[in-house]
Amino acid sequence: MIKNKLQVTNHLTQITNVLVIGCGGAGLRSAIEIKKSGLDVIILGKRPKTDAHTVLAAGGINAALGNLDKEDTWEQHFIDTYLEG
Ligand SMILES: Cc1cc2nc3c(=O)[nH]c(=O)nc-3n(C[C@H](O)[C@H](O)[C@H](O)COP(=O)(O)OP(=O)(O)OC[C@H]3O[C@@H](n4cnc5c(N)ncnc54)[C@H](O)[C@@H]3O)c2cc1C
Repeated sequence: MIKNKLQVTNHLTQITNVLVIGCGGAGLRSAIEIKKSGLDVIILGKRPKTDAHTVLAAGGINAALGNLDKEDTWEQHFIDTYLEG
């Protein structure tokens, strides 16, 4: 016998091809590509949308732009971010 069994009585069922967990920049960017590829996508976040770190970034989002400069790799981006932190 299972003790303290959780009874879920009020729930919503939705069907999608892909579930993205996290609605910051990474999740939203992924969802755009998924939708563009023709799949349905649902994005799930656990906190209010104004509370993602992406919303708090005030200085513009930094990124490695290897398409513009071959030396601007994710490894270099990591080093820059780590040193600044
Ligand atoms: C105050 C501050 C200022 C910053 N300034 C800059 C800046 O000027 N320039 C810059 O480049 N970067 C900056 N950063 C860093 C930048 O914001 C983050 O690196 C970037 O936004 C991360 O994006 P993300 O999508 O990976 O994560 P987030 O934006 O943090 O999104 C994660 C999402 O996942 C959700 N989530 C987490 N766990 C769960 C779970 N278990 N179930 C469901 N949902 C979940 C969260 O609710 C959130 O919506 C800053 C960060 C902070 C906190």
